[in-house]
Amino acid sequence: MNITGSREWQERAEHVIPGGVSSPVRAFRAVGGQPRYLVSGHGPYVRDVDGNEYVDFVLSWGPMILGHADPRVTEAVEQVMRNSSSFGAPNPAEVLLAEQIVRRYDAADMVRFVSSGTEAVMTAVRLARAATSRHLIVKFAGNYHGHSDALLVSAGSGVVTLGLPNSPGVTPGAVQDTVVIRYNDREAINQLFAARGAEIAAVIVEAVPANAGVFLPIGDFNGFLREVTAAHGALLILDEVMTGFRLSSAGWYGLLQPNWKPDLVTFGKVIGGGYPLAALAGSREVMSLLAPLGPVYQAGTLSGNPVAATAGLTTLLACDAEVYETCDGAARTVMQLMDEALTAAAVPHRVQHVGNLFSCFFMDAEVTDFDIAQQQDTAAFGRFFRSLLESGISIPPSAYEAWFVSSQHDARALQRLADALPAAARAAGTPQ
Ligand SMILES: *Cc1c(COP(=O)(O)O)cnc(C)c1O
Repeated sequence: MNITGSREWQERAEHVIPGGVSSPVRAFRAVGGQPRYLVSGHGPYVRDVDGNEYVDFVLSWGPMILGHADPRVTEAVEQVMRNSSSFGAPNPAEVLLAEQIVRRYDAADMVRFVSSGTEAVMTAVRLARAATSRHLIVKFAGNYHGHSDALLVSAGSGVVTLGLPNSPGVTPGAVQDTVVIRYNDREAINQLFAARGAEIAAVIVEAVPANAGVFLPIGDFNGFLREVTAAHGALLILDEVMTGFRLSSAGWYGLLQPNWKPDLVTFGKVIGGGYPLAALAGSREVMSLLAPLGPVYQAGTLSGNPVAATAGLTTLLACDAEVYETCDGAARTVMQLMDEALTAAAVPHRVQHVGNLFSCFFMDAEVTDFDIAQQQDTAAFGRFFRSLLESGISIPPSAYEAWFVSSQHDARALQRLADALPAAARAAGTPQ
């Protein structure tokens, strides 16, 4: 495979962009190999500057659930753009998108748009502290909620991929009000609430943890968190940035349909249809504390801009039952193919999933928390990753990230994966 163009672009990039990337995991430091500089994508395929085509299981880390350059999204966006891309004023597109979210998601009475998942979570935390007049935030090890200071402790995603314990530049003061608990550890939660319940503003949890690989909740863990928080007057923030509108038309919540509601929910990724848009939503009571209705300040120059809102709205409207069925079916096929190939090559592995969200741990044990996840063989994953990439298959460049499928991952795309997997599995099983 000729990748001289990508090499040249990376060399140029490294002079002017730290590590040559706008987000750290893209630099392939954890897996080795040459990051590809991409120029186009259609359906399940992306193409690099050298003209190589890859079946894409990254999908911009989730947003492209309809595949790349979906004609409906592209057309809707083109139309809007001709009449300006941003006003910094109210516009109909954001109202239509908010209405869609409220209609689909039981726990969402009101919505505030922001530009990234990080911002959505940051605002949810501020809101929870204001609503309760308390300061402590409880999060789980290996759960990722964006890169805001208070939540950059024991975070998943790039923080774990790169083996950073936490980040320099985050002061002890910024994290002293964050308590980190092992995921699935009910006893630790009970003890913490017994000791400091009156100080806890909120528990924040990924609806399904999928930023350090996909962990499986033991029993109804989210329901348990709802009970404990409610009993102590704390809020529950459900982070659906990854799962929202991916697992079902109403995210994890729509898939499980629990008989309780979180106080606040955060959305991102799919909700922006590939454009910078995210949101927080929740009960009318809590959301009404946001300025200008209430005293909690939050703002954004590009928030709710019509291009991103239109892309998000068009994406949500296109995501009918068939889209989710196709994604779920494609995910099942990929999981089965991967399992077969790794088994045939005698490589210890564990594929875990919720709906179409899945990951493969290179170890042979059930993974229910971050400590267990970190026992996997990341070197084996690196060999697996590089072999797939050389065969024209692009998967997330980290053993700690979920894979993504779209409604365009058809039999032809999946056959390419099937053809590439046996060699990749053998590479994984062959220490160099
Ligand atoms: C991606 C992600 C975020 C952060 O979103 P950005 O748009 O990257 O800032 C927050 N929470 C979860 C669960 C995520 O998967």
